[in-house]
Amino acid sequence: MTKRAYNFNAGPAALPLEVLQQAQEQFVDYHGAGMSIMEMSHRSALYEQVNNEARDLLRELFGIPDNYQVLLLQGGASTQFASIPMNLLQPGKTGSYVMTGSWADKAYKEAKLFGEAAIAASSEEFKFNRIPDLSSIALPDNAAYLHITSNETIEGTQFQAYPDTAGVPLIADMSSDILCRPVDVSKFGMIYAGAQKNLGPSGVTIVIIRDDLAANSPKTIPTMLRYDTHAKNDSLYNTPPSFSVYMVTLVLKWLKEKGGVAGMEQFNRDKTKLIYDTIDNSGGFYRGFADPASRSLMNITFRIHSEELEKLFVKESEAAGFVGLKGHRSVGGLRASTYNAVPLESCQALAQFMAEFQKRHG
Ligand SMILES: *Cc1c(COP(=O)(O)O)cnc(C)c1O
Repeated sequence: MTKRAYNFNAGPAALPLEVLQQAQEQFVDYHGAGMSIMEMSHRSALYEQVNNEARDLLRELFGIPDNYQVLLLQGGASTQFASIPMNLLQPGKTGSYVMTGSWADKAYKEAKLFGEAAIAASSEEFKFNRIPDLSSIALPDNAAYLHITSNETIEGTQFQAYPDTAGVPLIADMSSDILCRPVDVSKFGMIYAGAQKNLGPSGVTIVIIRDDLAANSPKTIPTMLRYDTHAKNDSLYNTPPSFSVYMVTLVLKWLKEKGGVAGMEQFNRDKTKLIYDTIDNSGGFYRGFADPASRSLMNITFRIHSEELEKLFVKESEAAGFVGLKGHRSVGGLRASTYNAVPLESCQALAQFMAEFQKRHG
């Protein structure tokens, strides 16, 4: 048996062991072609199958309606921060943003480079430890869209329900929680996600966009940044990140076998309960950063009363085989990322380690 770390990395993050092993088996000779998928033309029949399979599986597992495009792009979610206003923020309109933390702020700042952008609701007064009340969202009359960050990876907060926007396209950055639970995709104008947290390795970015929004890019923006370019060309306008897309297909097949997104939600609830319960039952030794009503299924953020102890926690956890438990440098503290592919055993081991650490140092 290969020795595997208890991997709680925030991204790139854990992949299912079965997927890695399958990729290993096919690494040198993909389906008898005598070459790796990486060495193959992206115009070949074999790669076309991979390209179609990735999009079909996403449609099936996420319940994406027929009037949406599924695009496989490059540049990460960070490029989408700019592509969204370039494609969808018309002159005279306002791009509205719900300010929930670090990633929402980056998306908002890119929009300001292109046009009018405004904050429709914010939890800054709570240091972003929660998702703002949906009822506090104020959409201007000329809103081009409302942008939300479904899961704030750094703060560890997650929308528990999505806002009703009365016809204004709702756009969600789901980079760190796509396919972690069922979502009614028809409520959204667009959903996007970098793959490296919940879908596969880095290199490919998923964009799910309603047909009417994909068809209206202004003629003045660069070809590669236009949604209609990729929609018209089945995401094969230029050379795609073929190995990453292939890995995504393996992850999606694994997810389907595990009961699809409904199965994932239960699995993720079981996993995170182990760790949130440990925090809540620690008599204040551990303190969750996120307000309980906004707690994330994907990133558990917590603190210990002294920074010295937090440093010691990281050090001792690493010696015990845990990886990635240090909080993001911008907020400090500790963070366990429990994406779909993180096994239950890792979470059981972490809960046990946390209890023992408290016994030793509490
Ligand atoms: C990681 C992350 C990003 C950035 O993704 P890149 O693919 O590195 O550009 C954006 N938004 C959220 C919510 C993230 O977690």
